Amino acid sequence: MSDARELFTIDDLRQWPGDSPLRLAVVGDPVAHSASPPMHNAALADLGMDARYTRLHIRPEELPEAFALLPGSRFLGVNCTIPHKPQALKLVHTVDESARRAGGVNTVVVGPDGMLTGHSTDGGGFSRAVREAFGILPGASRVAVLGAGGGAGRAIAMQCAFEGSSRILLVNRTLDKIASLATDIAEAFPRVRIEASDFESLTSLAEYDLIVNCTSLGMKREDASPLASDLILDRHFVYDTIYTAARTPLMLAADVVGARSENGLPMLLHQGVLSFEIWFHREPPIEKMRAALLAVAPR
Ligand code: NAP
Repeated sequence: MSDARELFTIDDLRQWPGDSPLRLAVVGDPVAHSASPPMHNAALADLGMDARYTRLHIRPEELPEAFALLPGSRFLGVNCTIPHKPQALKLVHTVDESARRAGGVNTVVVGPDGMLTGHSTDGGGFSRAVREAFGILPGASRVAVLGAGGGAGRAIAMQCAFEGSSRILLVNRTLDKIASLATDIAEAFPRVRIEASDFESLTSLAEYDLIVNCTSLGMKREDASPLASDLILDRHFVYDTIYTAARTPLMLAADVVGARSENGLPMLLHQGVLSFEIWFHREPPIEKMRAALLAVAPR
């Protein structure tokens, strides 16, 4: 079966062969188009490791059973994607600080004793991607997070606060959805200056260095940019977490004023690299993983 089509369900997991080489997976709903299998399989093959990574299409109501089946099916770990990250936080036996901060689990380790440990590599992957793309540290930047009310927005805003950002602007279409995040950041990182806004009230981003798009605006070709180009300055660094286009609508808006921008592919890569390091306590071949991602990425 090719990486592009391989997909298993809860019925498959209920009768998982004991000798299957498929011992890692991304669990999601939908999950058919996840690029994680080719990325991780490139690393596993390059290192000559005796395991392969696949996709598990698991519906939200099936997640508790799926997690319970992982140890007996000899899984080493899984990644969780939409919509499972918050539910996974409640289902694992132990949660580390990164997952607690993010409010969700994207990496699960299945211990030899069958215990599940939850981590989040979204914030760390974002941080590595920004350093790689722009040569700047999120923690040394004043950051505007667009779509701060979603899962990625929370993980990224929390990561920036954790790394030392002095000022964070939380922007969300629905203001109610960022109230608890603003409180959580203020409590955990009291020296961070936190502001909140909806999109309509934004008049200037001149007080910020790094703009991050965590909305889903831009995933469809016909989407508008979440931000008009007249709010972007040429000195801004613009990071769009979306990776369904090489140049997203926000990146095109950044081009208009000559601001540097990058899409979400490096974040996808680095969150995967961090997951691999958590599972195997070794550094994977990053350039092999990047090449595998680029081979399946939209152009
Ligand atoms: P989510 O929890 O569903 O959050 C979606 C966010 O987008 C919310 O803040 C939502 O605002 C906002 N939004 C949706 N439609 C909008 C619109 N028309 N106008 C303005 N805001 C809108 O999703 P998520 O898991 O955080 O994912 C969000 C994005 O991050 C996706 O594009 C995903 O691909 C990306 N992501 C990338 C990586 C990576 O590795 N590169 C990892 C994770 C996520 P409301 O609260 O008002 O609904």
